[in-house]
Amino acid sequence: MKPVPDADTKPYWDGIEAGELRLQRCEACGAAVFYPRVICPHCFSGAMRWFTAAGTGYVYSYTVAHRAFGDFADQAPFTVALVDLDEGVRMMTRIVGADPGRVQIGMRVQMTIEPIADANLPCFRPAPFPAESGAGAERDAVASETAPEAAGASDIPPEAAEAPAETTEVPPEAAGPPPEATGPPPEAAEAPAEATEPPASEPA
Ligand code: ZN
Repeated sequence: MKPVPDADTKPYWDGIEAGELRLQRCEACGAAVFYPRVICPHCFSGAMRWFTAAGTGYVYSYTVAHRAFGDFADQAPFTVALVDLDEGVRMMTRIVGADPGRVQIGMRVQMTIEPIADANLPCFRPAPFPAESGAGAERDAVASETAPEAAGASDIPPEAAEAPAETTEVPPEAAGPPPEATGPPPEAAEAPAEATEPPASEPA
């Protein structure tokens, strides 16, 4: 199951071993490209140059695998996601460091390299929004929602916390806002309609 690098993908896998996510950029049209290719899929130029990506992005869509086979059989449940990198490419990956039930479309993530089934693979884990983004409280709220320690009472809105004494259980709707209420980026909010298209085959 271990990936076998070839001449086209060796810089990518060398980057993973060095702890970096390396992508290609077309020197003719400027587009970032993933997965590794000899020809730019946008303008068909052969001037592809490798660079090191920031390793940050947003969850475009995801699914939780509750049944898995082969080398992955003992790893379920795990979250398989499409992540839109800040460089403008989309990659299939796995979300780690977050309970599958806490993953959300639009969630800010950053790369982490994880050993999975004999290979080191680029995965993503929840990340705080960068302060310089100026995104404000709404994005901060999304980031805190994704933190494992946020799964408890801090999610309960004030009106639920002040419920009458006989109501000892927090109603499900008070345990946290639904995913769509946390304000994912506009492009991510429309994700489900397109998320069913099969992703291109990728080395990761
Ligand atoms: Zn190009």
